Amino acid sequence: MPDTTVALCGLPPTPARVVPAGLSRNRMDAIILLGNKWVNGTTLRYYFFDGESDGSRTVTSDGAEFVTWVGGKEQQDAVRESFAEWKGLGIGLDFIEVFDRSEAEVRIGFARGEGSWSYVGRDVLGIGVGERTMNFGWDLTTPGARRTALHEIGHTLGMMHEHQNPFAGIVWDEEAVYAELGGPPNFWDREKTFNNIIRKLEGVSGSTWDATSIMHYPFRPGLILTPAEFGVSGISPPGTISSLDAAYIREWYPAMDSADYPTLKPFESRPLSLNAGQQADYRIRPDATREYTVRSFGPADTVTVLFEEVDGELRYLAGDDDAGQPRNAELKVRLFKGREYVVRVRLYTSWESNQSAVMYW
Ligand SMILES: [Zn+2]
Repeated sequence: MPDTTVALCGLPPTPARVVPAGLSRNRMDAIILLGNKWVNGTTLRYYFFDGESDGSRTVTSDGAEFVTWVGGKEQQDAVRESFAEWKGLGIGLDFIEVFDRSEAEVRIGFARGEGSWSYVGRDVLGIGVGERTMNFGWDLTTPGARRTALHEIGHTLGMMHEHQNPFAGIVWDEEAVYAELGGPPNFWDREKTFNNIIRKLEGVSGSTWDATSIMHYPFRPGLILTPAEFGVSGISPPGTISSLDAAYIREWYPAMDSADYPTLKPFESRPLSLNAGQQADYRIRPDATREYTVRSFGPADTVTVLFEEVDGELRYLAGDDDAGQPRNAELKVRLFKGREYVVRVRLYTSWESNQSAVMYW
């Protein structure tokens, strides 16, 4: 019997990506699908808030209230182990804990009573350095609570809610859902329930609905009209990374060997023979210190990201995303002789096969 009193992840509202009018359906779908994914090979640095003054301040009728964002070691360990579990699937992303928030893409708080949530994929880059990109609103050490840590990290990797997959074909008893989530322990307003449950997502890949996904909420009986059997039985995902979750994340972020990247020479135009979603990676070893331009060419939407190798680790230097725009991705950066860089170009979609390329000069 599904747990009927479970507290659920509630994503913060984010403005939808503005896509120019008049794009082809293919181009639109690719932008929605890839738009918040990381380029593969990215190292995500995560940080746990640790300062006495790190917390939420609200002014109530009784005066100011302070809720700390700092979590105990056992809470942090649950998150560390969950990052390790995702990494253990053999993916091309890396996760490193850092102790300086300005170094971190992912900044994690444990404010009780403020829900559990994460921004999705590259959306975290738009969040201020003093702000959380992820919060855990309840104890992660109780039986079954590990699912929350795995789920929120799934969002940070760019995964959405599986029960909002349009291929699921779920027809909700909407008023029953609003009433359920409006009560304890979630106390969500209708907008939050709509955004996290009722609304169907666009740009979902694959045609399979995975009711065992870590990204799927549990639902008690009586909330689903169709498929009718789930209305009777409810849905009770096991709270682990499912085999389809693993396949999905490996498809987006396949394991990679950084030693394999070919070297890109200045003024050498490299054709990109990529299918939608695929990525090309090149090393850049400048022979002079000066301003350079790194650019993609051709009838394609790409995200192009440049990393610098620092102490054996690739650090983000610059990135551009030209999706949906009548231009190509272009980075203007000062590169230094004797240093090494890696440029990664991920293709959203192209509309004339094999006509796109990357070059630096
Ligand atoms: Zn969620």
